[in-house]
Amino acid sequence: MSSQAIREELCKYAQKTVTNKLVVGPGGNISARFEGKMYLSPSGFALDEIKPEQWVEVDIETGHITDIGLRPSSEVLMHLYAYRQNPNIGAMVHTHPPYCIAFTLVEKDLPIMFPDQAALVGKTVYVDYVLPTTDKLADAVVAKIEHASILLGNHGLVTTGRNLREAYYRTEVVEESAKIFLIATAIKEPKVLTKEEFEEIASLESEAYRIELLQKMK
Ligand SMILES: [Zn+2]
Repeated sequence: MSSQAIREELCKYAQKTVTNKLVVGPGGNISARFEGKMYLSPSGFALDEIKPEQWVEVDIETGHITDIGLRPSSEVLMHLYAYRQNPNIGAMVHTHPPYCIAFTLVEKDLPIMFPDQAALVGKTVYVDYVLPTTDKLADAVVAKIEHASILLGNHGLVTTGRNLREAYYRTEVVEESAKIFLIATAIKEPKVLTKEEFEEIASLESEAYRIELLQKMK
């Protein structure tokens, strides 16, 4: 793996967020960690417009930004704090998926309904609306960063993973889960997995299950 390979992988997943309508216009931001640096989407670009050399390199420890004439995403602090807080995080995907945003308006954690959701993502927690681009939002996200998926009230979704692929697919799974939850809600209160059912899945050979699922999603 090289920083060039990371930059190309970022372009690939950035493209997917737009193709799959997880963001519109210049919304959302994505980053990945590589050798003490994070590579973050530049401010003001639609994610599918970014060229490999345009991802902004930021030193995770010092916050120093390598000057390439582009500003990093306005959510730079949210990404930076997350990498500092949890050394296992290799990538962060922040999007504005419509069903997730609709679900944040009810101001609660997203229930776990499906085995894939339980195994791939785990609990999706909710944080109240905070003014975007501020250190308050970065602090609110980092306070819940032990969860791989965080709903931002009246705003969007943040997912993390050991790598970009994992962080990105978590976004897709959470959006699909929110969509199905909202469809079911139109009929009656949806049946969700019980704590016991969720723990049973978690106690399966969960790592193997997760890898198998990710391979299927290629
Ligand atoms: Zn946002």
